Amino acid sequence: MSLVVMKFGGTSVEDPAAISRTAAIVAGRVAMGKRPVVVVSALSKVTDQLLRAASSAAAGDRTGALAISSRLRARHRDTACALVKDPKASAPLITLIDQKFDSLDEILRGLAAIQELTPRISDLIVSYGERISSRIVVAAFCTHGIPAAHLDAREIIVTDSQFQRAVPQDSIIEKRAAEKIRPLVDQGKVPVMGGFIAANEEGITTTLGRGGSDFTGALIGGAMNAEAIEIWTDVDGIMTCDPRVCPDALRVKAISFEEAAELAYFGAKVLHPATILPAVKKNIPVLVLNSRNPSNEGTRIVSLAPHCRSPFKSIAVKKKLSIIDVVASRMLMSHGYLKEIFTIFDKHKCPVDMVSTSEVSVSLTVDSNDRLPAIAADLSRLADVKYEGKKALICMVGEDIRGQNGIAAQVFNAIRHINVRMISQGASEINMSFMIEEDDADEAVRSLHAAFFKDPDPEVFDVEAQKLAAQPAR
Ligand code: ASP
Ligand code: MG
Repeated sequence: MSLVVMKFGGTSVEDPAAISRTAAIVAGRVAMGKRPVVVVSALSKVTDQLLRAASSAAAGDRTGALAISSRLRARHRDTACALVKDPKASAPLITLIDQKFDSLDEILRGLAAIQELTPRISDLIVSYGERISSRIVVAAFCTHGIPAAHLDAREIIVTDSQFQRAVPQDSIIEKRAAEKIRPLVDQGKVPVMGGFIAANEEGITTTLGRGGSDFTGALIGGAMNAEAIEIWTDVDGIMTCDPRVCPDALRVKAISFEEAAELAYFGAKVLHPATILPAVKKNIPVLVLNSRNPSNEGTRIVSLAPHCRSPFKSIAVKKKLSIIDVVASRMLMSHGYLKEIFTIFDKHKCPVDMVSTSEVSVSLTVDSNDRLPAIAADLSRLADVKYEGKKALICMVGEDIRGQNGIAAQVFNAIRHINVRMISQGASEINMSFMIEEDDADEAVRSLHAAFFKDPDPEVFDVEAQKLAAQPAR
């Protein structure tokens, strides 16, 4: 049976037009004989607004929190009414939306009184985004003749109790999917559930972390041995670089799981890195597709990288980084030095991106953040510390850099006019990264793109689109 998991992100359900496009895409898959299981995000920006409502309430601003909630209520009601014209179908949907917002308001009032926002309450509040969006999507699908059935994701995605970043329990999820999703699919129904939200074994609401709907999609796909997992978003897939920076950017037709994970980690916002894991384990291909341009083939993420005649598949950039230099002559050759340094980063819960060491000095890069002065103060007890912001990390990804000679020379030759602060290669065999000034980042990307993608392999990159764009308009 050709079961496909179709995950639609916030922009694919942002308004009535987007939800109608999504319905048409799902109806198309059903017509092709596929059996879709649909996972949806909250309407775009809703999660952010729910978090703002929560923090306003926690700061004692009851009116402000309720005002956010009331704007969200109006947006969801309007969306529902625009999609479901038949009053017999829209009345129960509107009642349901109102009930959900009534209980959200109750929580916000309680929070404004108590003024303590725990991770558990935060998860409960943000869960409303997906709980409501999934209901609206089901109703809209039904008006499009899709036999949709709503499922509460919290009954299927069972996690531990680490609120805001809960860890899924694969074996329970597999069992629940078999019990609750499979029978619906077997009856010819199209199950629809919210992404991102989950519950622990006691049934208390948790979430999988921001952007976690992709993760839900992959978990369901993995649990049900889907034929493919489709991640529907608002771009044509993974590109060779940011098209806003370099207009020659090409769509990557196929990329390996490992390469995609490296890119995701380095800020290519196409998909959540953890998406990769449940799919990799079961060898299920993940397709990144554009709900605004559904006929485009998107990017296929597969377990084995397709052979490519150029070494790199894509160039990613991560900006707003800081570099911290720690120099400790007196620590020369002593053991435990790195441990002490990392303990300080750990204490400040500050993740480190890249590390480079010599005998006496260590350079580290982190996201620029307001804890840096405190981190530097702690580090200065061990060594001399300097830190500097406005740095960017350029990350070049490709399976074919393994074992090829002269790649580093080509990379640094292409950007010989740019000052490189830190280099890392070898930590991952498929990624070469280096740190430069943020102001040089766009220029570096353009130079690297020109050097490595001037003769793109048509098996791997969409050169057709580029040819079409190059044709003079008639
Ligand atoms: N709505 C959640 C978020 O914005 C999850 C998702 O969209 O994937 O983080
Ligand atoms: Mg998302």
